[in-house]
Amino acid sequence: MKEMVVSIHDVSPRTRETCDAMLNDLAALDIARTSLLVVANHHHRGHFLDDPVFCRWLAGRVAQGHEIVIHGYFHQRECVARARLRDRFITQVYTAGEGEFFDLSRDDAAALLERAKTDFERFRREYAADSARPAGFIAPAWLLGEAAAAAVRDAGFSYTTRLATFENLRTGEVIRSHSLVYSPRSAWRRVVSRGWNAWLARRLQANPLLRLGLHPPDRGFPALWNQIIRLATAARRERTAVTYADLVTRHAERTGL
Ligand SMILES: [Zn+2]
Repeated sequence: MKEMVVSIHDVSPRTRETCDAMLNDLAALDIARTSLLVVANHHHRGHFLDDPVFCRWLAGRVAQGHEIVIHGYFHQRECVARARLRDRFITQVYTAGEGEFFDLSRDDAAALLERAKTDFERFRREYAADSARPAGFIAPAWLLGEAAAAAVRDAGFSYTTRLATFENLRTGEVIRSHSLVYSPRSAWRRVVSRGWNAWLARRLQANPLLRLGLHPPDRGFPALWNQIIRLATAARRERTAVTYADLVTRHAERTGL
């Protein structure tokens, strides 16, 4: 059977209630394993470890089979004065300044990754002792520069994903699959998003892997969320819902790598 990975981006204490509702909606479609992209301290507005309600909730979801993925530390790109015009366009317009790992040096990226790993290790010790360590790192807005990508490999993560690919960092295997993703920021973006994702879903129908990248604001717009539910329902009829970590494990079982 073909596979699908549903991921929820920007999971944090600020989005917990919406993420919880999204997971309930997905569970009703028999999508019970997802990849939860957790931000350690989203926009400096509060560290997840300082919120025991969030931590207990996250531990409960992990116990059900969902996976934690490290999704940046602050999720926000620090302003770099020397940024070239093209880079400024990408980071300010395309991602609204969310490209935290877009142009970090290898050392700066390594320091942030180490800090995140330490925090999630503390979470595991205090709340979810039986769970696996986060196996993957996914950069905010999928913007991972070359230097930061090297730091992700050095830090021992077993996979990362970009907008159009899943990369197994243990084996070097790259699976091409463009993620469905919505842009709910304005009315015209929502209209374009629905057309684009319907087209992309049809185009990916034969692809062994379908990726559905969801963000908490998506659920606030019924026209978007209804389409997401329809596409996910159709996909689930012919695909197994797995996490990204499952893809790495299954590949290892098949090939011994
Ligand atoms: Zn994000």
